[in-house]
Amino acid sequence: MIRKTRLFTPGPTPLLPAAQFAMAAADMHHRTPEFRALFQRVLAQLKVFVGTQNDVLLLSSSGTGAMEAAVANLTSPGEKVLVLTAGKFGERWRDLAKAYGCEPVVLSAPYGQTFDLADVKKALTPEIKAVLMQASETSTAVNHDVQGVAKLIKEVAPEALLVVDGITGLGTTHFDVDGWGIDVLIGGSQKAVMIPPGLAYLSVSEKAWAAMEKSKNPRYYFDLRKERKNQVKGETAYTPAVALVAGLGAALDYIAGQANGNLEQGRIALVNNAIVNAAATRAGLTALGFTLFAPTSPSAAATAVAVPEGMDSSDVVKALKTRFASVIANGQGEMKGKIFRVAHLGFFDYLDTIAFLGAMEHIAKDTLKLPVEWGQAVAAAQKVYAEAASK
Ligand SMILES: *Cc1c(COP(=O)(O)O)cnc(C)c1O
Repeated sequence: MIRKTRLFTPGPTPLLPAAQFAMAAADMHHRTPEFRALFQRVLAQLKVFVGTQNDVLLLSSSGTGAMEAAVANLTSPGEKVLVLTAGKFGERWRDLAKAYGCEPVVLSAPYGQTFDLADVKKALTPEIKAVLMQASETSTAVNHDVQGVAKLIKEVAPEALLVVDGITGLGTTHFDVDGWGIDVLIGGSQKAVMIPPGLAYLSVSEKAWAAMEKSKNPRYYFDLRKERKNQVKGETAYTPAVALVAGLGAALDYIAGQANGNLEQGRIALVNNAIVNAAATRAGLTALGFTLFAPTSPSAAATAVAVPEGMDSSDVVKALKTRFASVIANGQGEMKGKIFRVAHLGFFDYLDTIAFLGAMEHIAKDTLKLPVEWGQAVAAAQKVYAEAASK
């Protein structure tokens, strides 16, 4: 039988065909009226996609570039920043803060869990200049309470900046960026916006722009003040990833097209799509005998499950690839072999979920020798979908 290659990974995610066509056709110089028009249109769309009145900047880098830009532009050596970490991406914030000479105060939760807001409150002392966190910790598929943290900052540390890695949070979480007071919210192209890796985007509040003037860090490629001056004119400081910008425009058009051209509504539909597919996947995999790795605060971007005791998640990853040409993610670092992760962010639909769970029934039965009744995982997912569709 033939097998289609399928990505079920939380970045890179499956590519939108319309974006692929737009990228292939983007034979364009970046210092032209054509590119300026495209770039300004995409920046305006991105503001709606992020859901903010703040500036949104686009950088030619992977998501980590925007994380580094946030630390480089907003902090100074010797400053205290509060890092909330519960996985590999939270640890990246800690390492970045150290690399720029900050003194990270690290509040960690065990892998698979999120923070207790009472602990966050205690850690929010007056010296804290910024709070660095994930909205969705992709390594453990945990959702963190950005709204809760934002509220605490307003209450007890109103000077502190809230910097959120929303790289898998955007497109899978309903944010109120300006209402909650998120100063920086970061996204990446290879996640919910359905295009290849290579672009990062971030919203920047007025409070964050003011803080940048005080930062003593050296900045060059990632000088956000320089980017802002250029981007209002449809320019970039350096050569942008032109084709990806064209692809991003096509993807945002597609998302708007899900709600008759209304991008805000389209974004809400995309988030709800991820939420329902994640819930259906959790139901399906639990029905097969897997244990949710993040049962109390699961992310809608991806689902992580632990394989039963004595089994190796690498066998599941391998079997899906060899039998069904499908790629899921293993655990990262010390979680490798213990969990696997399947994504729902971006260009995934309900039929993808059903196909994945159908394949997982074969793997559970043949590779893991679990007792499987055909249709067991699929039926559990169908119930979740039917309930959501009836609302
Ligand atoms: C994918 C991802 C990143 C960015 O990784 P890059 O490889 O630099 O694009 C950062 N944070 C989270 C939560 C992610 O999922």
